[in-house]
Formats: sequence, C-alpha cells, structure tokens
Amino acid sequence: AAKEDQRGTYRLFERELDAKVKARNLLETEVRDAINNNEFELHYQPIFCVQTMTAVGAEALLRWRHPRLGLASPADFIPIAEEIGMIADLGAKVLRQACKEAMAWPDQTSVSVNVSAIELEAESFVDTVKTALAESGLPSHRLIIEVTESTIMKDVQLATHILRQVCDLGVEIAMDDFGTGYSSLSSLTKVPFQKIKIDRSFVRDLAISMEARAILSTIVELARTLGMRTTAEGVETAEQFEIVKDYGCTLAQGFLFQKAQPADVIREILRAEPDTRQNAA
Ligand code: C2E
Ligand code: MG
Ligand code: MG
Ligand code: MG
Repeated sequence: AAKEDQRGTYRLFERELDAKVKARNLLETEVRDAINNNEFELHYQPIFCVQTMTAVGAEALLRWRHPRLGLASPADFIPIAEEIGMIADLGAKVLRQACKEAMAWPDQTSVSVNVSAIELEAESFVDTVKTALAESGLPSHRLIIEVTESTIMKDVQLATHILRQVCDLGVEIAMDDFGTGYSSLSSLTKVPFQKIKIDRSFVRDLAISMEARAILSTIVELARTLGMRTTAEGVETAEQFEIVKDYGCTLAQGFLFQKAQPADVIREILRAEPDTRQNAA
C-alpha cells in the first residue's frame, strides 16, 4: 500500500508540475506575443520638487493588461521577458517611446526610465540610448536612467563601464530602491549617479520608526556630501511627506500625489505646471 501511495503521490506531483510548466509556457508565449504586438503600455508617475511642489518630470512604468489576469505587475512579467531573451527588445521600445512622449512635455521636465541588469549589460545598450535620443530629438539631459543596486552589483565593473558612457551622453543616472540591496557604498562613487531614490520600505515606516528616520537622515546626508539629489519613493501620507521634507529630500513621488497615469494624462499634468508657478508668484 505504501508503494501505491507513493506512486499516487508521485502522479499527483507530476500532474501539478505538468500544469505549472504548461502555465509557464503559456505565459512566456503571451509575453512574447505582447512584445511583438506592442501590447505593453507606458504609464508615468509624476515626481515633485519637495520645496515648490511642482512636477519636475515623471517615471515611465510598464503596464500590461492581460486578457485573463488583468493588470499584470512589471515585477512579474519583466523576469519572464528576461528569461525568454526579449528584455532588450522590450527595453528598447520603452526607451524610444518614453523619449518620444517626453518631447510633448515642458522643456524643464525629465523622463525616468527603469533599466534591468540584463538590459544594461547587453552590448547594444549605449546605442539603444543614443538611438532613442536621436529619433525623438529629446535633449539628453532630459532623460534619466534608473538602475538598482543589485543591477550594479551583478558586475560592478561592466555596469560602471556602461553607465559612464551613458553619463557621457549627458543622460542622468539614478540609483533606484536605495537601501534594499547590498551595494558597497564605494559603488556610489564609482558610478556617476546624480540622484539616489530612497526605497519605499524606509518611507513607509517614517512616522512610526526612529530607525527608518535615522536611515533617511543618513542617506540624505550621504547624498549631500556626494553632491547628489534624493527622491523619496512611495510617499503615501501627509505625515510621511512632512518628515521627508524636514529631512531635506529634494524630490518626492508616491500615491499621496499621484499614481502612474497614461501618457495623455501626464502630459496635461506636466503642462499645467508653469501656470501653477505663475499663479503662485
Ligand atoms: P520602481 O522603479 O522602484 O518603481 C516604483 C514602483 O512603486 C512602481 O511599481 C510604482 O507604481 C510603485 N509606487 C509608486 N508610488 C507608490 C506608493 O506611494 N505606494 C506604493 N505601494 N507603491 C508605489 P510598478 O509600476 O509595479 O513597478 C515595479 C517595478 O518594476 C519598478 O520599481 C521597476 O523596478 C520595474 N519596472 C517598471 N517598469 C519598468 C520598465 O519599463 N523596465 C524595467 N526594466 N523595469 C520596470
Ligand atoms: Mg524606478
Ligand atoms: Mg524604486
Ligand atoms: Mg522597485
């Protein structure tokens, strides 16, 4: 009986595994088709100057409306695009579209684009950036490339080499999700970062945790010393915003202000900015 049980369990396991593999294969096919058919959409979350509360630009965030699964998170489908070897394609499309759309925004604004490790390390990455800028006509200083610590740490030398070339084009580099990875502080000085984005996990606890405030204060101080600006990510409450402001963060982004919006909506938001400033003056 024991043997039969085992066989039964094994068959069950095999069936489950089979179902998982099939679901995975289906998802891979769907991601491939979605990339080929341009089914991905770019939304943009505005980024605000903490002092003036004007929007200084927006971060491009990929959105995919899946026929069965609804709105899928980039954290789920980007790893699949990486695995099937299509992240460079997808990333190039994102860069080109983001640059093109930012051309319709005011001159003083910039667009931030997230780049994953595999994208960055592709041989063609610097050319992809050049092409996106040339095609759109976007001045390079209006583009910001966001990379995370783990992207840098995967191969510090290679990442540094590529990011220096990107920086030489006049593009700004931002360290994303700072504080969550394992980057050595020295990587901050090797890579020409102009901006540090303080991870949402610290911002979330600011009102309730002295430790979170200590970390915020340390990062802001470090950034100031290195001549970099700071962005607080994931600001959701007025209380968090007050603390972020008190501690001297330069920029803030979060649901308190706005979630990521479709291109036409963000364009209106950013275009409304100069008027707001005139009214305030
Ligand atoms: P990220 O670059 O750190 O982007 C910020 C994420 O936090 C976004 O999630 C945004 O919607 C979310 N967020 C912003 N404000 C708040 C807030 O106040 N509260 C909460 N709870 N969340 C907030 P999203 O769009 O799901 O993106 C997740 C990650 O996927 C991004 O993290 C980025 O690493 C990656 N990603 C998104 N678009 C792209 C892309 O075009 N290319 C690549 N390579 N990665 C992308
Ligand atoms: Mg980002
Ligand atoms: Mg982030
Ligand atoms: Mg993130």
